[in-house]
Amino acid sequence: MKRLFSLTVAIAFVSIMAWGCTKPTSSPAPSSNASAQADHEGHDLDTTTLAVSAYCGKCGEVKGSDACCAEGAESCDKCGLHKGSTLCCVTLDEAAVGKDLCALCGQIAGSETCCDQDAEKCPDCGLAKGSPLCCKLTVDK
Ligand SMILES: [Zn+2]
Ligand SMILES: [Zn+2]
Ligand SMILES: [Zn+2]
Ligand SMILES: [Zn+2]
Repeated sequence: MKRLFSLTVAIAFVSIMAWGCTKPTSSPAPSSNASAQADHEGHDLDTTTLAVSAYCGKCGEVKGSDACCAEGAESCDKCGLHKGSTLCCVTLDEAAVGKDLCALCGQIAGSETCCDQDAEKCPDCGLAKGSPLCCKLTVDK
C-alpha cells in the first residue's frame, strides 16, 4: 500500500513537473507576437525612409540601397549579380536582363508599362501580370 502511494505521488510529481515545463513554452508566444509586430512597424518605417522603388539591374540589390553596386560585394558565380541579392538567380526575360526593375509593378523601371494603372495585377504576387518580375521573387514568403 505504502509503495503504491509513493508511486502515485511520484507520478503526480512528474506530471506537475511536465506541466510546469510546458507552461513556460506557451507563454513566450505572445511576446514573440509582440516582437513580430515591432518588426512589422520597423519594416513600415524602412519602406518610407528607403522607398523601395526598383531593383538594380546591375547588382540585383534594391536600387539606391547601401548594398547597391557596393564595391567588394560578393558576386554570385551563377548569375553575376550580388550573391543573395533580390534578383540573384532570378531568371529574367532577355529584355529585362541588366535593366532596373520596378519593385511596385515588376516591369522595367520607367518603361511605358511601368506602374500602368490599367495593368492587370497578378493574383499570386501582386505585381503586373506577365511583368518580368511576376512570380519571380520569393521575398516576404
Ligand atoms: Zn546596383
Ligand atoms: Zn545568383
Ligand atoms: Zn512600376
Ligand atoms: Zn505573379
